[in-house]
Amino acid sequence: MAKLIKISDIPLIGTVCFGIIDRGTNVIQIRPTTLCPLNCIFCSTDAGPNSRKRQSEYLVELDHLLEWIKYIVKIKEKNIEAHIDTVGDPLTYPYLIDLIQNLREFKEINVISIQTHGYILNEKIINEFDSIGLSRINLSIDALDPILAKKLAGTENYNVERIIELAEYITKNTKIDLLIAPVWVHPINDNEIEKIIDFAKRIGAGKKWPPLGIQKCEFHKYGRRTKEIKYMTWYEFYKRLRELELKKNIKLILKPSDFGIFHTKSIKSKFKVGEKIKVKIIGPGWFKGEKLAITNDGNWSVTVIGNNLQEGENITVRLLRVKDNIFIAKPI
Ligand code: SF4
Repeated sequence: MAKLIKISDIPLIGTVCFGIIDRGTNVIQIRPTTLCPLNCIFCSTDAGPNSRKRQSEYLVELDHLLEWIKYIVKIKEKNIEAHIDTVGDPLTYPYLIDLIQNLREFKEINVISIQTHGYILNEKIINEFDSIGLSRINLSIDALDPILAKKLAGTENYNVERIIELAEYITKNTKIDLLIAPVWVHPINDNEIEKIIDFAKRIGAGKKWPPLGIQKCEFHKYGRRTKEIKYMTWYEFYKRLRELELKKNIKLILKPSDFGIFHTKSIKSKFKVGEKIKVKIIGPGWFKGEKLAITNDGNWSVTVIGNNLQEGENITVRLLRVKDNIFIAKPI
C-alpha cells in the first residue's frame, strides 16, 4: 500500500504526478491528487488500490496549489483552459469544489475541465459542478457491456450502467459540456467503440466541444497491462477512426484547434538534458526506486532515480529529461 504524502510547501512544477504542467499552450494541467479508486487493467500510471509500482500517493494542499496557479496564470495572461486531469482520478480530491470555485475567480481562465472515469460521481456533485461553472467533463467510458466494463476497470464494484445514467443526467440537466473519452484497448473493447459512439450521439454529448475523444491505449513502462492487450500503431488507430467517421458521420480525429488550444507564453527552465545540477532529496518518489527532490534554488521539483539516497541529502544529479518542465535525473 502506497503512503499518502501531503504537499504544502514544495515547488509544484517539475514532476508529472502532482502540481501543474505547462506544455507551452493555453492549457494548464492541474494535478491536485494522485489517488484513484479503480484498477483499470490498461492504466498507464498503475493507479488504484492494486498498484504494484507506486510507493507514494500525493495530495496537494489547496492554498499551495492556488498560489502556484496564480503564478502561472499571470504568465499566460488570457484565454486559459484549466484542465484538472491527474494520474489518478480528480474526483478523489477532497477540495475539488473549492478548487473549481477558486479557478472561476481568475479572469484569465475561461474554460475549466476535468478528466474522470466517474466512479465516484453523483447527481449532487454534478449539480454543484454546474452551479460553480465547470465547463466540461471528459468522461471515460471504455465499454457499455457491464461485464466487460468491470473487467476493464479491474474491479467488480464498477457499474457502467450507473455511469451511463450520470452521463445522461449531465446532458439533460446541466450546462456542462460532456465529452465521452473511451480508451480503445485493442482488441478487448473493439466491439464496444461503435456502441459508445452511438451512445454519445444519442445523449447529445458535445454541445460546444467534440462529443467524443477516443484515446489509444499505449504501452507505458510503468503502466499496467495484460497479455490480451495488443497495442495498435498510430497508423492503424487513425485508419480505424477514419473508417468510423465515415460510417457514423461524426468527427473522431481531433486537433488542438477543436478545443481552442494555441501556443502561449510559458514557464521556461534554463535546464538542458545532460546538465549536472544540485538537488536536495526531500522524500520518497512516486514509483518504487525513485526519490522526490528539489533544486538548490528551491524553484523546481525533480524526480531522482535511485534507491540508496537519504532524505535531507544534497547531491549532484544529471538531468535525463527536461521536456515540459518535467525533470527526471539520476545521481552522478
Ligand atoms: S485509467 Fe484512470 S481511472 Fe483507471 S485506474 Fe488508471 S487513473 Fe484510475
